[in-house]
Amino acid sequence: MSLNQLDGHTILIGLMAYPIRHSMSPTMHNHAFEKLGLNYAYLAFEITNDGLEGAVNAIRTLDMRGSNISMPNKQKIIPLLDKLDPATEMIGAVNTVVNDNGVLTGYTTDGIGMIKSLDDEGIDIRGKKMTMAGAGGAGTAIAIQCALDGVKEISLFNRDDEFFAQAKRNVDLINEKTDCKATLHKLEDQDDFKAEIDSAFIYCDATSVGMNPLEGQTLVSDPSWFRKDLVVFDTVYAPRTTKLMEVAEEAGVEHVFNGLGMMLEQGAAAFKLWTGKEMPVEYIRNILF
Ligand code: NAD
Repeated sequence: MSLNQLDGHTILIGLMAYPIRHSMSPTMHNHAFEKLGLNYAYLAFEITNDGLEGAVNAIRTLDMRGSNISMPNKQKIIPLLDKLDPATEMIGAVNTVVNDNGVLTGYTTDGIGMIKSLDDEGIDIRGKKMTMAGAGGAGTAIAIQCALDGVKEISLFNRDDEFFAQAKRNVDLINEKTDCKATLHKLEDQDDFKAEIDSAFIYCDATSVGMNPLEGQTLVSDPSWFRKDLVVFDTVYAPRTTKLMEVAEEAGVEHVFNGLGMMLEQGAAAFKLWTGKEMPVEYIRNILF
């Protein structure tokens, strides 16, 4: 269904966040609807915490199929929903809402997107050890989803800031509720950080380091920390090549990824929840990137 063929049956999906005008999600989803001939439209709405309750009620009132949710609403929306899926309950943040006849369920697809983006590259992290940095929104979704989906061991590093308590919560929850063994580490202990990267299958950076205003910075600046057969994954996608990725490439690491695949696959997972269809991911990748 092309956007100029919208009609009385068109089903609306939203994106509720602030700021949000820069988002690639409307382009991604509307092109996917058009490609598959689905009569849906995806629109971005500037919604802060103040307007959130009214916006969530509007999902029901307007019989929208659902919405993406981003900052600053990912946690605030939880008490306004009817249900959370089990992984989202553990993660404690929502990026996708599905409306089934007035019953709103919250999901979070960032961790699913990270794992799927690696699957797309033929890399299976299940049964392996991951060392990661970061316990904010992205880091929490990744750690918990990976633990639920079969990653065997997670060494979670965070610097001693306001996110350290969240890192501890993530590790405790993983150990309590999943078969994954998680350990908590301080980023300030560089010897420990180096050793944990050295014994991992994948190193994942889920911090804001590497993107504006921290562009050009990296938590690992010495290429000798990286084995050639380590997988290096940076959640940042702007810039496309981060300083961390440059260091990994200098070390001769074969599998180095930015966060574009994760971004695309988190969208594809939400698309499937709303429409029941697979997003034409390669088609969208070519349009967006
Ligand atoms: P957040 O603000 O919730 O968390 C920030 C994290 O970075 C915390 O763990 C914090 O301790 C850490 N951090 C910040 N500055 C640091 C520094 N100087 N040194 C060490 N650690 C530092 O942010 P978020 O929403 O979780 O985003 C984190 C990253 O994930 C960003 O780079 C963002 O672009 C990326 N992201 C990617 C996707 C995707 O689809 N690819 C989705 C969401 C977020």
